[in-house]
Amino acid sequence: MDLKAHIRAVPDFPKPGILFYDISTLLAHPAAWKETVDRLAKVIAPFKPDLLAGIESRGFLTAAPLALELGLGFLMVRKKGKLPGPTVPYTYDLEYGTDTVEIQEGAVQPGQRVVILDDLLATGGTLSASVELLRKVGGEVAGGACIMELSFLKGRDKLDIPFESLLQYD
Ligand code: 5GP
Repeated sequence: MDLKAHIRAVPDFPKPGILFYDISTLLAHPAAWKETVDRLAKVIAPFKPDLLAGIESRGFLTAAPLALELGLGFLMVRKKGKLPGPTVPYTYDLEYGTDTVEIQEGAVQPGQRVVILDDLLATGGTLSASVELLRKVGGEVAGGACIMELSFLKGRDKLDIPFESLLQYD
């Protein structure tokens, strides 16, 4: 199945000049979405995960059904201030300013093999910050995967983990 045919490219979102790849149309098509999750399951199997992490918010949509399919636990990597109870933060640099991602304390046990999922890899900043956060609590980040990768931005060069994507855009 041609999964790219189920992804809508929206010009000038969220800012003029940006072409945004929208997975709403993929999610709305049960057979295409099932195939997406099945293909992700195949590419992450060699990473031998104990646990899957999803990055807010489309990473939740990607990782949660995959965790269910593989019989694994799922944890949320969220923007600051969204998770209840004690959290562990990691702050990283953006082009202008900083951003912070968090997980709940105790969500990862030291030595657990975690695989991180998001819908799309662009510059790699969000994914590499999530890798550092999971390492901060003792997780072993076994790999990462996304549905889409904007190859021309070379985000994977920023990652020091094995990385897989289903669809590449130049
Ligand atoms: P990065 O940190 O790699 O530059 O950006 C990746 C993050 O931005 C991901 O969390 C992803 O959801 C979001 N993102 C950036 N561009 C797009 C896009 O064109 N489509 C979608 N669906 N997400 C995007």
